[in-house]
Amino acid sequence: MGSARTVVVTGGSKGIGRAVCLAFADAETVIYFNYGSDEKGAEETSKLAADAGGKAFGIKADVSDPDAVADFFKQILDATGKIDVLVNNAGITKDGLLVRMKPEDWNDVLSVNLTGAFLCTKIAAKAMMKKRYGRIIMISSVVGVMGNPGQANYVAAKAGLIGFTKAVAKELASRNITANAIAPGYVDTEMTAAMTEKAKEAMIAQIPLGRGGTPEDIAGAAAFLASEKADYITGQVIHVNGGLYM
Ligand code: NAD
Repeated sequence: MGSARTVVVTGGSKGIGRAVCLAFADAETVIYFNYGSDEKGAEETSKLAADAGGKAFGIKADVSDPDAVADFFKQILDATGKIDVLVNNAGITKDGLLVRMKPEDWNDVLSVNLTGAFLCTKIAAKAMMKKRYGRIIMISSVVGVMGNPGQANYVAAKAGLIGFTKAVAKELASRNITANAIAPGYVDTEMTAAMTEKAKEAMIAQIPLGRGGTPEDIAGAAAFLASEKADYITGQVIHVNGGLYM
């Protein structure tokens, strides 16, 4: 059980989660991340972290499966004995208009984006309470605040994460554990790759800073929230969106 900082990131095999892992990659930190099925991406994240002088271990574990989550955290706690930082980043979309949305598309999106964060936070919180220290970060979304047509399931999950963050922040504050949400705007990743060029242009036209976000823009906010500079920040939603929503 070393004294290195233990950082856990869900969904670290690509996109924002990978950038978050890399933002934490240094000699004093050990990073554990999980992923859905993207083994190649996971290996790449570990390699990039090693190139940056850090250590990031990828473990395949579905965040919506309680047994898989329990096993994921058991491996981490057996190895390091603590969790300093948890970033609940894993997420999926299954878009569709409300009147056509299948109940399974609703359930799948809620299970991964919201229940997954609950399952991970519950276990991490126990370990953090023992050490009287913890930094919990949820990756929500600007649409959780603004709404978005065609994403009733995703918007409900992301808005739910904001309420969850506030409840966790109040419940755990006395143990020196903070919980905050980051609400990214439009970020160029595989998740948004399905958008047509026209839709992307229309989206960027609405962003005052005139560009989409990068995974690193979001990762920078996560690194800040986990740093001692943010020790007095809890229960907040940090918007990282180029001004799309103010
Ligand atoms: P992405 O599709 O590039 O990556 C998603 C990651 O989540 C992958 O590592 C994948 O393996 C993992 N994942 C998916 N389902 C999983 C499961 N059941 N169990 C474990 N891991 C699982 O997506 P991204 O754009 O990097 O999004 C990351 C987070 O940021 C998501 O929560 C997303 O909703 C949120 N977000 C993204 C944007 C954007 O514009 N890209 C905007 C706002 C919020």
